[in-house]
Amino acid sequence: MNERLLNIWKKYRMDELLALYEEADNFTAQFKNVVGLDCQTFCGHCCEKKDIEVTIYEFLPLAFSLWEKDEADLWLQKIEVAEKVGDTICVFYKKAAGEEKGKGFCVKYGLRGLLCRLFGFSVLKNKNGGHIFAVCSVLKIKNILSIEHIQELLDKGVINAPSMTDYYSRLSCLVNDFNMPMYPVNTAVKKAVEKIGYEIENCE
Ligand code: SF4
Ligand code: SF4
Repeated sequence: MNERLLNIWKKYRMDELLALYEEADNFTAQFKNVVGLDCQTFCGHCCEKKDIEVTIYEFLPLAFSLWEKDEADLWLQKIEVAEKVGDTICVFYKKAAGEEKGKGFCVKYGLRGLLCRLFGFSVLKNKNGGHIFAVCSVLKIKNILSIEHIQELLDKGVINAPSMTDYYSRLSCLVNDFNMPMYPVNTAVKKAVEKIGYEIENCE
């Protein structure tokens, strides 16, 4: 990594961002293990959603990597094409060849955003301080009794799950923005790529 890129890496606290992601991944894996639920191979229902909203910040490590690998223009073009045809599914989602709806994978899985890491296996805080298991519809339909049981265990404090609310507030502290706007996923990726591009042009 050259000195300019290294400075940008440090400025945006990428090491700490990635450490937060690693912690979220570990906690999610532990939770999956405890409750005995996991995604099916090549399930892509959540990535096929047309209304995913995320922050710019959570895609900065991926944006950085695109510039580093000289792929930034390619992905910006893919986003532009998707916008022109009104396709709002995440550009990094690749449908499995010949497969029906809901089967596919993320081509940038290792650097996916925070939401992508927590979705389906995390809780949201309600206004009374309780934790609602925000399970995805695929798992909910197939495991309705286990989901009710998991919610009971969470309510009693017998088990813990990653909290989407807490992880986003930690992200907010890390990037020092307490009003992090959410954008449709491709817009957030585009803004993240442009942000790093601007830094590359202007950073000393
Ligand atoms: S979180 Fe749910 S929708 Fe997403 S991949 Fe896992 S099972 Fe499928
Ligand atoms: S970045 Fe990857 S995991 Fe996240 S929504 Fe896009 S395809 Fe899915």
